[in-house]
Amino acid sequence: MGRTSKDKRDVYYRLAKENGWRARSAFKLLQLDEEFQLFQGVTRAVDLCAAPGSWSQVLSQKIGGQGSGHVVAVDLQAMAPLPGVLQIQGDITQLSTAKEIIQHFEGCPADLVVCDGAPDVTGLHDVDEYMQAQLLLAALNIATHVLKPGGCFVAKIFRGRDVTLIYSQLRVFFSSVLCAKPRSSRNSSIEAFAVCKGYDPPEGFLPDLTKPLLDHSYDPDFNQLDGPTRIIVPFVTCGDLSAYDSDRSYPLDEACALKKKGQLAKEICPQDCPMSTVDLLPQ
Ligand code: SAM
Repeated sequence: MGRTSKDKRDVYYRLAKENGWRARSAFKLLQLDEEFQLFQGVTRAVDLCAAPGSWSQVLSQKIGGQGSGHVVAVDLQAMAPLPGVLQIQGDITQLSTAKEIIQHFEGCPADLVVCDGAPDVTGLHDVDEYMQAQLLLAALNIATHVLKPGGCFVAKIFRGRDVTLIYSQLRVFFSSVLCAKPRSSRNSSIEAFAVCKGYDPPEGFLPDLTKPLLDHSYDPDFNQLDGPTRIIVPFVTCGDLSAYDSDRSYPLDEACALKKKGQLAKEICPQDCPMSTVDLLPQ
């Protein structure tokens, strides 16, 4: 069968198949970790909006949680089981799901909360950005209940019109906030990742699930922050510059040359991944 679209079968898609990752998104988390050492000292992590599970795979492999249940993964959709990953099927914007996650961490806070959540895109940019912001804030709300002081929070953001408001809200809770764009995230996408380190809520802050951080009285003018309230966070690209460019097509001769040098793909075990090495070459 011919390829259906450039997007679905770019080099990261192929590498993900080859390496047994459930989605190409795995490379985003791996490249974020390369830049920010997200997994250093981490033994307990929460993966919000986790399906089909490539970030959970990365987490369970990198933090040595295999078999000991140190990763909690949550998604609306059911996910095939993964060793060392406790799964919760639910909506992260719902109180009941948040409570279920928090319950799991009672007495033992998490070191890291990640969220790669994305709403079903409508194509209406304002709506999509608003929905994405709501997901991020729901994730932040859960993080305020389960993260240990000093912990780390990483979440997908859309760099839209109101992104400075989100940065400002994140800065209330974390000593360092920046915006990162892994090489494997397409340049054509407004997607990026907020990398928030040093969880440090304001004195007297009490996590409260009943108060959404972005409520229905949302006023667009309120989001145009000026002066000291307008926080400009650093923008960082990550992933080795020699890494594959997710927006590029690799011509067949170049791919063959890379393949000969062993730089395109490693041989794979057929039972792990049914895709043949020929399939790894651009068509
Ligand atoms: N990080 C995942 C991986 O590596 O396999 C990919 C995540 S995918 C881009 C986005 C996920 O967000 C979808 O599986 C979707 O079901 C989930 N999602 C969207 N809204 C959600 C919500 N309100 N609660 C839980 N999951 C949600």
